[in-house]
Amino acid sequence: AAKRLGGRRHAFFRKELADQAHRHLALDRDLRTALAGGQFQLHYQPKVSLIDFSLEGFEALLRWEKPGHGMISPGEFIPVAEDTGFIVPLGDWVLDEACRQLRAWLDDGLDPVPVAVNISPRHLRHHSAEDFRRIIDRHGLSPDLVELEITEGAVMQDMDHALEVLAALKAMGIRVAVDDFGTGHSSLSYLKRLPVTTLKIDRSFVNGVPSVREDNGIVSTIIAMADMLGLDVVAEGVEKPEQANFLRHHNCTLVQGWLTGRPVPAVQAADLLVKRIKQRA
Ligand code: C2E
Ligand code: MG
Ligand code: MG
Ligand code: MG
Repeated sequence: AAKRLGGRRHAFFRKELADQAHRHLALDRDLRTALAGGQFQLHYQPKVSLIDFSLEGFEALLRWEKPGHGMISPGEFIPVAEDTGFIVPLGDWVLDEACRQLRAWLDDGLDPVPVAVNISPRHLRHHSAEDFRRIIDRHGLSPDLVELEITEGAVMQDMDHALEVLAALKAMGIRVAVDDFGTGHSSLSYLKRLPVTTLKIDRSFVNGVPSVREDNGIVSTIIAMADMLGLDVVAEGVEKPEQANFLRHHNCTLVQGWLTGRPVPAVQAADLLVKRIKQRA
């Protein structure tokens, strides 16, 4: 009986795997169709200063509106694109589109803020610094208008390559942020060697502030560490005023979250840029 059960379990897992492979293939095909058919767009989430609530930057976030399905979240399709390798052309499209948008804002007489683009591990492993630079140059942009967000995991996968690319990006004046900081396995000695400009504190820690003592400790320690290393620090996923107060009190002045602004389409992002000019005038 045990054997029969084992055999059945085996068949069950085989079917699961086959189903998953099938879903992967179908999604990969849909993603390629989506890119060719212009179904992707970028939304822009503000990064805001807690000192005067000024707009300091945007993060570009990929959105896929699949006909007949509505919005599909990047959490669902980015891992598959990473798996199949489609993330390389897709990631290039994202960077190119963010740069195209920056160029359009400049041409409209707006004074844009830097835009950050997420770079997946496989994309980083595949590219040289020149590959990223070429896309930015296509639009005649100053490199300091563009920031790349990478995760600790992306760096760890091929440390030598990552260090070389990041150093070259830094030399070109392209800013690099460590995304979801604190969730990976990076050590302090490795962080010291990383040529990055910014740490983004992961939302999971910010979430617990100020009621979870451990999260308070982690968040304030990351802020102090960033300061010590001469890095900028941004808190992700700030939803409540209590969280903003805690962050301000611990000298973290840059935040990104529902509290200060959700990701919005480019047209609304442009409105924020216009408002910013008026506020400064
Ligand atoms: P991420 O880079 O850490 O981006 C932040 C995510 O947190 C975004 O989700 C954003 O909408 C969400 N968020 C921002 N503020 C808040 C808040 O106050 N509360 C909550 N609950 N969530 C908040 P999104 O757009 O669904 O993206 C999820 C992840 O997908 C991103 O995490 C990033 O890892 C990946 N992703 C998105 N766009 C791209 C892209 O163009 N390329 C690559 N490689 N990955 C992308
Ligand atoms: Mg990000
Ligand atoms: Mg993040
Ligand atoms: Mg995240």
